[in-house]
Amino acid sequence: MDRGINELFEGPTITDGTDKYLLTPSSFAEAEIGLMSKSEVRKGLEEVLKEATINPAFEAPSIRAAICLIEKRLGRSVCLEDVLERVRAHHENSSALITKQPIKQAELSGGGVWHYTIRRRGNEKKERERAVTIKLDSSGNIMQYMCQCQTFRYNTAKGNYDTISEQQQNGAALSGVAVPMLDVSGFPTFNVMVACYHVAASLIHISRTTGQYRVPFAFTNVSVLEALFMDAFGGIKEATIDDYLIRSGALTQETIVQISEGNLTLEVVKHMKNIDKRAQEIINGIKRAREREVYAFSGFATDFRGTPFQTASIILTKNDGRSVHILYDSRLRIKAPFSRPENGAELPLIMLNIPIFTWMSEGRTPPVSEMAELTGDPMVSTRGYFRGFDGRTQQEVVSIIARPDGHLLTPLERRTYEQVFESRRPKRQARQALN
Ligand SMILES: [Zn+2]
Repeated sequence: MDRGINELFEGPTITDGTDKYLLTPSSFAEAEIGLMSKSEVRKGLEEVLKEATINPAFEAPSIRAAICLIEKRLGRSVCLEDVLERVRAHHENSSALITKQPIKQAELSGGGVWHYTIRRRGNEKKERERAVTIKLDSSGNIMQYMCQCQTFRYNTAKGNYDTISEQQQNGAALSGVAVPMLDVSGFPTFNVMVACYHVAASLIHISRTTGQYRVPFAFTNVSVLEALFMDAFGGIKEATIDDYLIRSGALTQETIVQISEGNLTLEVVKHMKNIDKRAQEIINGIKRAREREVYAFSGFATDFRGTPFQTASIILTKNDGRSVHILYDSRLRIKAPFSRPENGAELPLIMLNIPIFTWMSEGRTPPVSEMAELTGDPMVSTRGYFRGFDGRTQQEVVSIIARPDGHLLTPLERRTYEQVFESRRPKRQARQALN
């Protein structure tokens, strides 16, 4: 069974208290297509198809798959009409994404607040346009944005969790005390505002017409069309499209600098997949132990991008730049000791990331120059210190990974694992252990 975190969206994130504004490259890529004219899309498509036929190293699997499919079925090459047809199938029988300009109205009121009316990609007769509000500060930084659409409301209303503990909610309601909302793993919920297609179209429009805002992404003709094909032809989920765009270099240099300076982070919104009860106890235990060391839960982020072990981790951070990543995913294949293979549950790993400059300024050993690089399988890296790269903060770090049966980071974490295993050991053994 698949366990771990199921990513919904990923992108540069602005955190303001318990509010998070997550700018997803998939929305911006789609909005860029929306803002192109039909002839621009046609021209872009022709260029990409030509590139695909002459360049064997052309990396756009969804475009390639569509080319093969249409050539096989219809004996001709892909044309704009094929794309329009697929877009119609996706958006309420409407190809408005390509044939209509999304911006219907734009107005700037006092205090840097923009009011936009954005055409929907779907059938306008069903539901008309969307009202978008965007607030920027005098330097063009996002203070707030809002939209009425489902993508935006779904994520705002539900936080980043699909199951919020009913008990906790009822308990809070009964006692009449304002308790922060917690999810099933006992973590506080953030209000996540995902920049939907409508918000993205508005932000790109502000950027192009006034230059007051700078879009955090730069797409190539290939990447923007590949993203469209992933969605329309492949039915691929947004988080996977976001991952593809990030890997293909969609973050601008300025965005990378913003992340490495700590103004933004690269984060994931998720809903939980299955969590094993023991794993949940361990995750809660790690969280409690680290909170005593002034770490705070900070959301979710991708680790090991581009390897077979790519996963979304639970992140706890400290003001000095240290972070604890709880790696919990079936693909890490971490089985509990003491359990029989058939009922062995997957367990979390703990990765501590310390920025290299902190490591060096504290004069810690071993020296960074003696460390191996952390790549590939995190399971082979559970002994010792490694040079790693933290995608969330775009920083070089020293990574230390602990596993349940090995070298652990803190005595409290060791006890957390042990208590969980102890309760599952046969009684006789447990008694012996006491002696
Ligand atoms: Zn929207």
